[in-house]
Amino acid sequence: MIITAVEVVRVTVPAYDPPFVWRTGLPGSEPESDGAWLVIRTDAGVTGIAFALRGAMLQDVVDRRIRADFVGRDPLARELLWDRIWELDRIDRFPIFVQGVIDVALWDLAGKAAKMPVYQLLGSYRESLPAYASTVTFGSIEEYLDVADQCLELGYSAIKLHAWGDARRDARLCEALREHVGPDVPLMYDGSAGFDLLDASYLGTALSAADYLWYEEPMREFSVTAYSWLAERVDVPLLVAEVAEGAHMKTADFIAAGCAAAVRTSTGLRGGFTGAMRTAHLADAFLLRAEVHGPGVANRHLCMAISNTTYYESLIDSNPVRRPSDVDAAGNTHAPTLPGVGFEEAWADGAPTELAAALED
Ligand SMILES: [Mg+2]
Repeated sequence: MIITAVEVVRVTVPAYDPPFVWRTGLPGSEPESDGAWLVIRTDAGVTGIAFALRGAMLQDVVDRRIRADFVGRDPLARELLWDRIWELDRIDRFPIFVQGVIDVALWDLAGKAAKMPVYQLLGSYRESLPAYASTVTFGSIEEYLDVADQCLELGYSAIKLHAWGDARRDARLCEALREHVGPDVPLMYDGSAGFDLLDASYLGTALSAADYLWYEEPMREFSVTAYSWLAERVDVPLLVAEVAEGAHMKTADFIAAGCAAAVRTSTGLRGGFTGAMRTAHLADAFLLRAEVHGPGVANRHLCMAISNTTYYESLIDSNPVRRPSDVDAAGNTHAPTLPGVGFEEAWADGAPTELAAALED
Protein backbone atom coordinates (compact mmCIF):
# COMPACT_ATOMS: atom_id res chain seq x y z
CA MET A 1 0.00 0.00 0.00
CA ILE A 2 1.29 3.50 -0.82
CA ILE A 3 0.05 6.99 -0.16
CA THR A 4 -1.40 8.54 -3.32
CA ALA A 5 -2.68 11.89 -2.01
CA VAL A 6 -2.51 14.14 1.05
CA GLU A 7 -5.32 16.71 1.04
CA VAL A 8 -6.62 19.40 3.34
CA VAL A 9 -10.39 19.97 3.34
CA ARG A 10 -11.22 23.32 4.94
CA VAL A 11 -14.39 23.50 7.02
CA THR A 12 -16.13 26.21 9.00
CA VAL A 13 -16.24 25.37 12.69
CA PRO A 14 -19.31 26.94 14.32
CA ALA A 15 -18.92 29.25 17.31
CA TYR A 16 -19.02 27.55 20.71
CA ASP A 17 -22.53 27.71 22.13
CA PRO A 18 -22.86 28.96 24.77
CA PRO A 19 -19.48 30.70 24.81
CA PHE A 20 -17.26 30.25 27.87
CA VAL A 21 -14.19 31.87 29.40
CA TRP A 22 -10.82 30.66 30.69
CA ARG A 23 -8.70 32.48 33.27
CA THR A 24 -8.10 36.22 33.13
CA GLY A 25 -5.77 37.03 30.25
CA LEU A 26 -6.64 34.05 28.04
CA PRO A 27 -9.05 34.16 25.10
CA GLY A 28 -12.16 32.08 25.81
CA SER A 29 -14.14 29.73 23.61
CA GLU A 30 -13.67 30.26 19.89
CA PRO A 31 -16.00 32.23 17.66
CA GLU A 32 -16.79 30.72 14.25
CA SER A 33 -13.43 29.61 12.91
CA ASP A 34 -11.50 27.94 10.11
CA GLY A 35 -10.83 24.23 10.69
CA ALA A 36 -9.75 21.44 8.39
CA TRP A 37 -9.79 17.69 7.80
CA LEU A 38 -6.55 16.09 6.75
CA VAL A 39 -7.28 13.32 4.22
CA ILE A 40 -4.61 10.71 3.38
CA ARG A 41 -5.52 8.47 0.43
CA THR A 42 -3.90 5.21 -0.71
CA ASP A 43 -3.76 3.00 -3.77
CA ALA A 44 -5.63 0.34 -1.76
CA GLY A 45 -8.69 2.57 -1.45
CA VAL A 46 -8.27 2.96 2.32
CA THR A 47 -8.39 6.59 3.48
CA GLY A 48 -7.31 8.06 6.83
CA ILE A 49 -8.67 11.33 8.24
CA ALA A 50 -7.96 13.62 11.18
CA PHE A 51 -9.29 17.00 12.28
CA ALA A 52 -7.39 20.23 12.95
CA LEU A 53 -8.81 23.42 14.46
CA ARG A 54 -6.34 25.60 12.51
CA GLY A 55 -7.14 25.03 8.85
CA ALA A 56 -4.92 27.68 7.27
CA MET A 57 -1.87 26.59 9.28
CA LEU A 58 -2.37 22.93 8.38
CA GLN A 59 -2.92 23.75 4.71
CA ASP A 60 0.31 25.73 4.60
CA VAL A 61 2.39 22.92 6.11
CA VAL A 62 0.85 20.20 3.95
CA ASP A 63 1.15 22.21 0.73
CA ARG A 64 4.78 23.19 1.29
CA ARG A 65 6.25 20.14 3.03
CA ILE A 66 4.14 17.09 3.84
CA ARG A 67 2.53 16.14 0.52
CA ALA A 68 5.79 16.08 -1.42
CA ASP A 69 7.48 13.97 1.25
CA PHE A 70 4.63 11.51 1.94
CA VAL A 71 3.17 10.63 -1.46
CA GLY A 72 4.60 7.31 -2.63
CA ARG A 73 5.49 6.12 0.90
CA ASP A 74 3.95 3.24 2.86
CA PRO A 75 1.24 4.68 5.18
CA LEU A 76 1.78 1.82 7.64
CA ALA A 77 5.41 2.90 8.18
CA ARG A 78 4.27 5.21 10.98
CA GLU A 79 7.61 5.20 12.81
CA LEU A 80 9.42 6.27 9.65
CA LEU A 81 6.80 8.92 8.84
CA TRP A 82 6.91 10.25 12.42
CA ASP A 83 10.66 10.61 12.04
CA ARG A 84 10.18 12.36 8.68
CA ILE A 85 7.89 14.93 10.36
CA TRP A 86 10.61 15.75 12.90
CA GLU A 87 13.16 16.11 10.11
CA LEU A 88 10.86 18.52 8.27
CA ASP A 89 10.17 20.31 11.55
CA ARG A 90 13.86 21.19 11.79
CA ILE A 91 13.39 23.53 8.85
CA ASP A 92 9.77 24.58 9.38
CA ARG A 93 9.28 24.53 13.17
CA PHE A 94 5.66 23.37 12.85
CA PRO A 95 2.88 24.49 15.19
CA ILE A 96 2.75 21.87 17.96
CA PHE A 97 -0.50 20.28 16.72
CA VAL A 98 0.78 19.43 13.23
CA GLN A 99 2.67 16.23 14.08
CA GLY A 100 -0.42 15.03 15.92
CA VAL A 101 -2.90 15.60 13.11
CA ILE A 102 -0.77 13.77 10.57
CA ASP A 103 -0.05 10.84 12.89
CA VAL A 104 -3.71 10.51 13.90
CA ALA A 105 -4.75 10.30 10.23
CA LEU A 106 -2.15 7.54 9.67
CA TRP A 107 -3.48 5.55 12.65
CA ASP A 108 -7.04 6.07 11.41
CA LEU A 109 -5.94 4.64 8.07
CA ALA A 110 -4.17 1.70 9.72
CA GLY A 111 -7.20 0.92 11.89
CA LYS A 112 -9.49 0.99 8.89
CA ALA A 113 -7.12 -1.28 6.95
CA ALA A 114 -7.04 -3.72 9.89
CA LYS A 115 -10.78 -3.28 10.59
CA MET A 116 -9.98 -2.52 14.23
CA PRO A 117 -10.40 0.45 16.58
CA VAL A 118 -7.06 2.15 17.17
CA TYR A 119 -6.90 1.26 20.89
CA GLN A 120 -6.90 -2.42 19.92
CA LEU A 121 -4.09 -1.85 17.45
CA LEU A 122 -2.15 -0.06 20.20
CA GLY A 123 -2.81 -2.97 22.56
CA SER A 124 -5.90 -2.55 24.70
CA TYR A 125 -5.68 -2.38 28.48
CA ARG A 126 -9.30 -1.64 29.45
CA GLU A 127 -12.75 -0.99 27.97
CA SER A 128 -13.83 1.95 30.13
CA LEU A 129 -12.32 4.59 32.42
CA PRO A 130 -13.75 7.13 34.91
CA ALA A 131 -14.04 10.68 33.61
CA TYR A 132 -13.39 13.75 35.73
CA ALA A 133 -15.35 16.96 35.37
CA SER A 134 -12.93 19.60 34.07
CA THR A 135 -14.56 22.99 34.53
CA VAL A 136 -14.20 26.12 32.47
CA THR A 137 -13.97 29.34 34.51
CA PHE A 138 -17.14 30.39 36.32
CA GLY A 139 -18.02 33.71 37.93
CA SER A 140 -17.92 33.14 41.68
CA ILE A 141 -17.12 30.60 44.39
CA GLU A 142 -20.86 30.06 44.85
CA GLU A 143 -21.30 29.24 41.17
CA TYR A 144 -18.39 26.76 41.25
CA LEU A 145 -19.92 24.98 44.26
CA ASP A 146 -23.24 24.77 42.43
CA VAL A 147 -21.49 23.40 39.32
CA ALA A 148 -19.61 20.87 41.48
CA ASP A 149 -22.88 19.63 42.98
CA GLN A 150 -24.33 19.19 39.49
CA CYS A 151 -21.23 17.29 38.32
CA LEU A 152 -21.38 14.87 41.24
CA GLU A 153 -25.12 14.43 40.67
CA LEU A 154 -24.43 13.62 36.99
CA GLY A 155 -22.08 10.78 37.96
CA TYR A 156 -18.61 12.34 37.89
CA SER A 157 -16.40 11.07 40.71
CA ALA A 158 -13.66 13.74 40.51
CA ILE A 159 -13.48 17.45 39.65
CA LYS A 160 -10.75 19.64 38.20
CA LEU A 161 -10.88 23.42 38.33
CA HIS A 162 -9.78 25.93 35.77
CA ALA A 163 -10.16 29.25 37.60
CA TRP A 164 -9.36 32.94 37.48
CA GLY A 165 -5.56 32.90 37.63
CA ASP A 166 -5.41 35.01 40.81
CA ALA A 167 -3.39 32.95 43.30
CA ARG A 168 -5.16 34.18 46.42
CA ARG A 169 -8.68 34.12 45.02
CA ASP A 170 -8.08 30.71 43.44
CA ALA A 171 -6.70 29.39 46.76
CA ARG A 172 -9.90 30.49 48.51
CA LEU A 173 -11.96 28.74 45.81
CA CYS A 174 -9.96 25.52 46.14
CA GLU A 175 -10.31 25.53 49.93
CA ALA A 176 -14.07 26.24 49.69
CA LEU A 177 -14.57 23.39 47.21
CA ARG A 178 -12.73 20.91 49.44
CA GLU A 179 -14.83 22.06 52.41
CA HIS A 180 -18.00 21.71 50.31
CA VAL A 181 -17.46 18.21 48.83
CA GLY A 182 -15.72 16.67 51.83
CA PRO A 183 -12.51 14.62 51.99
CA ASP A 184 -13.41 11.77 49.64
CA VAL A 185 -13.86 13.46 46.24
CA PRO A 186 -10.59 13.69 44.28
CA LEU A 187 -9.94 17.33 43.31
CA MET A 188 -7.42 18.78 40.87
CA TYR A 189 -6.41 22.28 39.81
CA ASP A 190 -5.17 23.46 36.39
CA GLY A 191 -3.36 26.82 36.25
CA SER A 192 -3.11 27.10 32.44
CA ALA A 193 0.38 28.58 32.90
CA GLY A 194 -0.98 31.64 34.71
CA PHE A 195 1.57 32.12 37.51
CA ASP A 196 5.17 32.93 38.25
CA LEU A 197 7.13 30.92 40.82
CA LEU A 198 6.10 33.05 43.81
CA ASP A 199 2.34 32.84 43.14
CA ALA A 200 2.58 29.20 42.03
CA SER A 201 4.22 28.39 45.38
CA TYR A 202 1.53 30.23 47.35
CA LEU A 203 -1.32 28.46 45.57
CA GLY A 204 0.48 25.10 45.66
CA THR A 205 0.79 25.33 49.43
CA ALA A 206 -2.97 25.89 49.68
CA LEU A 207 -3.62 22.91 47.39
CA SER A 208 -1.38 20.72 49.54
CA ALA A 209 -3.33 21.70 52.67
CA ALA A 210 -6.64 20.95 50.90
CA ASP A 211 -5.41 17.52 49.73
CA TYR A 212 -5.60 18.10 45.97
CA LEU A 213 -4.69 15.10 43.83
CA TRP A 214 -2.66 17.11 41.34
CA TYR A 215 -1.50 20.65 40.50
CA GLU A 216 -1.38 21.04 36.72
CA GLU A 217 0.61 23.52 34.62
CA PRO A 218 0.76 26.39 37.10
CA MET A 219 3.59 28.05 35.12
CA ARG A 220 4.69 28.25 31.50
CA GLU A 221 6.49 25.05 30.67
CA PHE A 222 9.60 26.60 29.16
CA SER A 223 11.70 26.38 32.33
CA VAL A 224 12.23 22.90 33.72
CA THR A 225 14.33 24.53 36.44
CA ALA A 226 11.39 26.64 37.64
CA TYR A 227 9.33 23.46 37.94
CA SER A 228 12.12 21.81 39.91
CA TRP A 229 12.18 24.74 42.31
CA LEU A 230 8.38 24.63 42.62
CA ALA A 231 8.54 20.91 43.42
CA GLU A 232 10.95 21.72 46.25
CA ARG A 233 8.55 24.33 47.64
CA VAL A 234 5.18 22.51 47.58
CA ASP A 235 3.94 19.05 48.56
CA VAL A 236 0.99 18.80 46.14
CA PRO A 237 1.87 16.46 43.23
CA LEU A 238 2.80 18.34 40.03
CA LEU A 239 1.30 17.18 36.73
CA VAL A 240 3.67 18.52 34.07
CA ALA A 241 4.62 18.67 30.40
CA GLU A 242 1.22 19.18 28.77
CA VAL A 243 2.19 21.84 26.23
CA ALA A 244 6.01 21.83 26.31
CA GLU A 245 7.23 21.25 22.76
CA GLY A 246 9.29 18.23 21.72
CA ALA A 247 6.85 15.44 22.65
CA HIS A 248 8.41 12.66 24.78
CA MET A 249 11.88 14.21 24.47
CA LYS A 250 10.93 17.26 26.56
CA THR A 251 8.84 15.16 28.94
CA ALA A 252 12.01 13.17 29.64
CA ASP A 253 13.73 16.34 30.85
CA PHE A 254 10.90 17.09 33.31
CA ILE A 255 11.13 13.53 34.63
CA ALA A 256 14.92 13.62 34.86
CA ALA A 257 14.72 16.88 36.82
CA GLY A 258 12.65 15.13 39.47
CA CYS A 259 9.70 17.56 39.41
CA ALA A 260 7.12 15.28 37.76
CA ALA A 261 4.70 13.49 40.05
CA ALA A 262 2.87 12.58 36.83
CA VAL A 263 3.07 13.72 33.20
CA ARG A 264 0.60 14.77 30.56
CA THR A 265 0.11 12.97 27.30
CA SER A 266 -2.30 13.51 24.40
CA THR A 267 -2.68 13.06 20.67
CA GLY A 268 -2.89 16.81 20.17
CA LEU A 269 0.24 18.00 21.98
CA ARG A 270 2.58 14.95 22.02
CA GLY A 271 2.64 14.12 18.32
CA GLY A 272 -0.40 11.92 17.81
CA PHE A 273 -0.79 8.35 19.04
CA THR A 274 2.86 7.61 18.28
CA GLY A 275 4.20 10.40 20.49
CA ALA A 276 1.52 9.96 23.15
CA MET A 277 2.37 6.27 23.59
CA ARG A 278 6.11 7.02 23.66
CA THR A 279 5.37 9.51 26.44
CA ALA A 280 3.23 7.03 28.38
CA HIS A 281 5.86 4.29 28.13
CA LEU A 282 8.59 6.73 29.14
CA ALA A 283 6.61 7.61 32.28
CA ASP A 284 5.87 3.95 32.96
CA ALA A 285 9.59 3.24 33.08
CA PHE A 286 9.74 5.53 36.13
CA LEU A 287 6.47 4.25 37.66
CA LEU A 288 4.83 7.59 36.87
CA ARG A 289 1.30 8.09 35.59
CA ALA A 290 0.69 9.54 32.14
CA GLU A 291 -2.66 11.32 32.38
CA VAL A 292 -4.42 12.04 29.10
CA HIS A 293 -4.99 15.72 28.33
CA GLY A 294 -8.28 16.76 26.76
CA PRO A 295 -11.47 15.11 25.57
CA GLY A 296 -12.28 13.69 22.15
CA VAL A 297 -12.43 10.31 20.49
CA ALA A 298 -8.69 10.11 19.77
CA ASN A 299 -7.86 10.65 23.44
CA ARG A 300 -10.46 8.02 24.42
CA HIS A 301 -8.37 5.47 22.52
CA LEU A 302 -5.34 6.53 24.58
CA CYS A 303 -7.34 6.11 27.79
CA MET A 304 -8.08 2.50 26.79
CA ALA A 305 -4.51 1.68 25.71
CA ILE A 306 -2.31 3.32 28.39
CA SER A 307 -1.93 1.17 31.50
CA ASN A 308 -0.53 3.97 33.70
CA THR A 309 -3.45 6.41 33.36
CA THR A 310 -6.43 6.95 35.64
CA TYR A 311 -8.91 9.46 34.18
CA TYR A 312 -10.55 10.83 31.03
CA GLU A 313 -10.85 14.64 30.92
CA SER A 314 -14.44 15.72 30.29
CA LEU A 315 -14.98 19.44 29.75
CA ILE A 316 -17.77 21.07 31.75
CA ASP A 317 -18.42 24.15 29.65
CA SER A 318 -21.75 25.51 30.86
CA ASN A 319 -24.01 26.13 33.82
CA PRO A 320 -26.48 24.39 33.89
CA VAL A 321 -23.99 21.55 33.44
CA ARG A 322 -24.36 19.32 30.35
CA ARG A 323 -22.72 15.92 30.51
CA PRO A 324 -21.17 15.15 27.11
CA SER A 325 -22.49 12.07 25.31
CA ASP A 326 -19.15 10.24 25.67
CA VAL A 327 -19.57 9.97 29.46
CA ASP A 328 -22.27 7.72 30.93
CA ALA A 329 -24.49 8.19 34.00
CA ALA A 330 -21.93 6.38 36.17
CA GLY A 331 -19.27 8.89 35.11
CA ASN A 332 -17.33 6.55 32.82
CA THR A 333 -16.19 6.86 29.22
CA HIS A 334 -16.02 3.80 27.00
CA ALA A 335 -13.83 2.37 24.26
CA PRO A 336 -14.67 3.61 20.76
CA THR A 337 -16.04 0.84 18.58
CA LEU A 338 -15.62 1.90 14.94
CA PRO A 339 -12.56 0.87 12.90
CA GLY A 340 -9.75 3.43 12.98
CA VAL A 341 -10.22 6.48 15.19
CA GLY A 342 -13.97 6.59 14.61
CA PHE A 343 -14.53 10.30 14.03
CA GLU A 344 -17.62 9.02 12.20
CA GLU A 345 -19.33 8.17 15.51
CA ALA A 346 -20.19 11.86 15.97
CA TRP A 347 -21.90 12.20 12.58
CA ALA A 348 -25.56 11.38 12.96
CA ASP A 349 -26.24 12.64 9.41
CA GLY A 350 -23.00 11.61 7.70
CA ALA A 351 -19.74 13.47 7.23
CA PRO A 352 -19.63 17.30 7.22
CA THR A 353 -20.61 18.53 3.74
CA GLU A 354 -17.16 19.63 2.58
CA LEU A 355 -15.53 16.38 3.77
CA ALA A 356 -18.29 14.19 2.31
CA ALA A 357 -17.71 15.77 -1.08
CA ALA A 358 -13.97 15.15 -0.85
CA LEU A 359 -14.43 11.53 0.25
CA GLU A 360 -16.73 10.84 -2.69
CA ASP A 361 -14.08 11.85 -5.22
MG1 LIG B 1 -4.34 21.20 31.31
